[in-house]
Amino acid sequence: MSIKIKNLNKIYPNGNHALKNINLEIPSGMFGLLGPNGAGKSTLMRILVALMEPTSGEIEMYGCNLLKERREVRRILGYLPQDFRFFAKYKVAEFLDYAARLSGMNDGKSRKKAVADMLEQVGLYEVRERYAANLSGGMKRRLGIAQALIHEPKVIIVDEPTTGLDPEERIRFRNLLTQVSGNDTTIILSTHIVGDVSSSCNNMALLNKGEISFRGSPESMLKRAEGKVWRLCVNDDDYQAINQKYPIIATIPNGDMWDIQVVADKFDEYPAENMPPNLEHAYVYFMEKDLNLWLND
Ligand code: ADP
Repeated sequence: MSIKIKNLNKIYPNGNHALKNINLEIPSGMFGLLGPNGAGKSTLMRILVALMEPTSGEIEMYGCNLLKERREVRRILGYLPQDFRFFAKYKVAEFLDYAARLSGMNDGKSRKKAVADMLEQVGLYEVRERYAANLSGGMKRRLGIAQALIHEPKVIIVDEPTTGLDPEERIRFRNLLTQVSGNDTTIILSTHIVGDVSSSCNNMALLNKGEISFRGSPESMLKRAEGKVWRLCVNDDDYQAINQKYPIIATIPNGDMWDIQVVADKFDEYPAENMPPNLEHAYVYFMEKDLNLWLND
C-alpha cells in the first residue's frame, strides 16, 4: 500500500467533526475520493498535503510518517489545488522553476532541464515567457499539472480537478494527468463528480459526513447496487408519493405520465422492473445507506 491512513480525526475549533476515525489504505494507481459537498474531502486533502494537522491519527506515505517527516514528504508529494490564482504574477517558466525549488530540487542545472522538459510535455514551452495571468484557462490548468509533477512525485493529490470544465476538457485533463505522471505513482482525485471516478480510477472510496461508506473498485460498488434500481411509469400523484419516500434519480416525461428511476433495497408498492445500475445509481444508493454497514474489503 502506498498510503496508509489510521484512525484519522479532524475536529475544527468550532467543534465541527469533519473527519471521523478514517481508516483507509490507498494503493498506487488512480484513486478516486468521491463525496458530496461538505463530506470532508478538502479537509482530508489539506491534511494529506500537510497544510493542516489532524486532531488525531496517523498517515504513512511510501514509508514516510506524514506528521513527523514533513520535508521528506514534500519531496514525494505533488499537489494540484482547485485554485491557481497564486501564480499570476510569475512568467510561466519562472513559476515552474519556483515550484521546483519549493519541492526540494536544489541543483540549478538539473532543475532547468526538468522545467524545460515539463513545459514540452504539457505543451507550454512556446509560451514559457508569458505571464501566467495571461494564459488561457486550459493553459493555466496545464501549468497547474506541471507544477504538481515537476519533481516527479510519488503521490499526486488533485482537489476537485474538473470544477468549471466542460466534459471534453475534463477528459483531456485526466488524460494529460495520467500521461505525465510516472508508472508507480499514486494519484488521488477528490471530486463530487461520479463520472470523473468511473472513467479513470481503478480504486475509490466514498466519503459521506466525515466517514468512509465504501472502499473498493468502481465495479464492486456497482455490484453492490445490483437489484436496487427500479424503473417504472407513474402519474403525477404517484410521483409525488414516491418522491416523499425514495430518491428518484431520473424523471423523463412520457405523455402525461413520467418514466422514473428509483433507488431502493425493496420497492414493491408499485409495479416496477429492475434495471442494471450505473455508478451514479450506486453512488446515490450508498449515500442513502446507513454508514459503515457496507465497508468493503
Ligand atoms: P468537502 O470538501 O467534501 O466539500 P470540507 O472538507 O470542505 O468538505 O468540509 C467538511 C465539513 O467541515 C463541513 O461541514 C464544513 O462546513 C466543515 N469545515 C470546513 N472547513 C472548516 C473550518 N475551517 N472551520 C470549521 N468547519 C469547517
